[in-house]
Amino acid sequence: MKILAAAALAACAAATLGGCAYNETLGRNQLLIVDDSALTQQSDAAWAEALRTQRVSSDAAGNARIRRVGDRIVQAAGLTDRRWEYALFVSDSPNAFVLPSGKIGVTTGLLALVRNDDQLATVIGHEVGHVVGRHAAERYSNTALTSVGLQVLRGAAGDNAQAVGSIGGLAAQYGVLLPYSRRDELEADRLGVDYMQGAGYRPAEAVALWRLMSQQRQGSTPEFASTHPSDASRIAALEQYIASRGWR
Ligand SMILES: [Zn+2]
Repeated sequence: MKILAAAALAACAAATLGGCAYNETLGRNQLLIVDDSALTQQSDAAWAEALRTQRVSSDAAGNARIRRVGDRIVQAAGLTDRRWEYALFVSDSPNAFVLPSGKIGVTTGLLALVRNDDQLATVIGHEVGHVVGRHAAERYSNTALTSVGLQVLRGAAGDNAQAVGSIGGLAAQYGVLLPYSRRDELEADRLGVDYMQGAGYRPAEAVALWRLMSQQRQGSTPEFASTHPSDASRIAALEQYIASRGWR
């Protein structure tokens, strides 16, 4: 990973690839050498495949709830430039994922776990944070620097797919859901509570959700609860951030 990071840094410094961009929200430079329209196409293909091959819940109230909370978060994140679609997938494992073109999948297990809309907003906020953070494009760009690196990461995503679920595995095949880094996860957490606050949800419920998750953690590790940042460090970082903003 050190080699990849160094390569990314070198490419950024030289800027010969013309793909280095300053992300104002994150306050840092990102290497982005991915073709956005290709990423959108791949996302849409992965989404269509997920809808075709996975069991989608017909629970109208559950679907409506995800859309209602999701639209409020998307609005707060200022990401109304794309057409957002949501789906409720039948799976007992509490899980969620996002595709960069604006698709959010949530499992029935997650809906069963959350105690209120604020906690659902925590998860959706985290996922939307990945999109604003352009994490998928960045991961792709960094790994694309070496074809070997991409293969290695695809393999890792394949393993991760066990944890993320078969939907995540599908997206990984399309190269749009490579495993996120620890930094990505913490950035997504922070952006998520920003959007919760902006949308009128209670940021403190993010902490409550993480406590719930760490209590009820089962064999699988959902994307939004990736093992990279430990539960304890994640909760501590969130509590500190929420307190620093004077939120509840
Ligand atoms: Zn995440």
